[in-house]
Amino acid sequence: MVEQTVHGSGGYVVAELTEDQLKKADLGVGKLFLAPIGKLEQEKMKKHFCKNCESEFDSSPNIKLEESTNEEVADNLILVERGQYTCQKCDSIIGEYRVFQKKDESSEVGNAKPMD
Ligand SMILES: [Zn+2]
Repeated sequence: MVEQTVHGSGGYVVAELTEDQLKKADLGVGKLFLAPIGKLEQEKMKKHFCKNCESEFDSSPNIKLEESTNEEVADNLILVERGQYTCQKCDSIIGEYRVFQKKDESSEVGNAKPMD
């Protein structure tokens, strides 16, 4: 695993990404993006940069759950959760995440446990 800089609308996060996450984050424009990855674990995020504070922090951003849902957004594709990574200091949004699940791959969607 390598530490990568992953960009969001309000800054960036430095995080350890798996091969799979790296592939998802790379949209082929020479930068990595937070949105397509899904949710990163807090302990995998080492630093965050906030555009509003104009500074980099040696800690992970906060993870703010916006909505836990089981909305079917396309055939066989369910939006399970969406939320934001926010600045530890000023609470502005660094980036967003979406967690999707394929319907036929999961029998656990219905009893997903809420996270603290
Ligand atoms: Zn900030």
